[in-house]
Amino acid sequence: MPINKASLLVLESFVRQREGGKKLRLIFLGPPGSGKGTQASRLSQRFGIPQISTGAILREAVANKTELGIKAKEYMDKGELVSDDVIIGIICDRIVQTDCENGFILDGFPRTIVQAESFDRMVKEKNIPIDVVLSLDVSEEMVVRRLCGRLVCPECNVNYHLEFNPPKKKGVCSKCGGKLYHRPDDEEDVVRRRLKIYKETTEPLIGYYQQKGLLRVINGTETIESIFKQLVIVLEGM
Ligand code: AMP
Repeated sequence: MPINKASLLVLESFVRQREGGKKLRLIFLGPPGSGKGTQASRLSQRFGIPQISTGAILREAVANKTELGIKAKEYMDKGELVSDDVIIGIICDRIVQTDCENGFILDGFPRTIVQAESFDRMVKEKNIPIDVVLSLDVSEEMVVRRLCGRLVCPECNVNYHLEFNPPKKKGVCSKCGGKLYHRPDDEEDVVRRRLKIYKETTEPLIGYYQQKGLLRVINGTETIESIFKQLVIVLEGM
């Protein structure tokens, strides 16, 4: 008996329910400060899939003074990219962990064409297709304002902003009580350098994924809540 598209959709949704939720594998693109981390964290809770932030993995390695952390710190403090090989190795190990079985959200990876091509080969080999690439569109000036006022909790990774989203108590994470800090790479001169690197090295990925038919561009200048709603609509329609 031939299977039409409608019955295929029903079948897919049945399989997802049986497996305890949608399998969603997505990539966030956008300049530093576009809100990728904030949205990825909310989507992670909503869909029950892990947020994989290469920046957070590296910051943890720096805090623990591991070999990786010592090597990476030099680049991170200057706002430069850590080498492709190191990052690809981190992702290769991470996406095969059991919590990624129902999907994952990549936040901060890939950042170069070399990383994207290598990731394509990786997911093809492991048969774990990417569903969508979400690109958050914001202006450079907005990014500078957002990052220069950003505060981060080292314990739970939640972000705040001195002006737009202050914590309930000054300097203290409203979620877990952690002591908030201002990232050294959020100083204005470093932010400008990160933006330059983004333009030259990461922005070409927008065209790369557009060509593959995976790209969805979202206006990143609206409120956190409104962007989140739009993202959920896109993802629930998949
Ligand atoms: P983020 O928290 O995503 O802004 O990342 C902080 C820093 O970690 C970046 O400025 C880079 O130095 C490094 N980093 C994070 N992800 C990558 C990546 N995919 N490729 C190279 N370096 C990265």
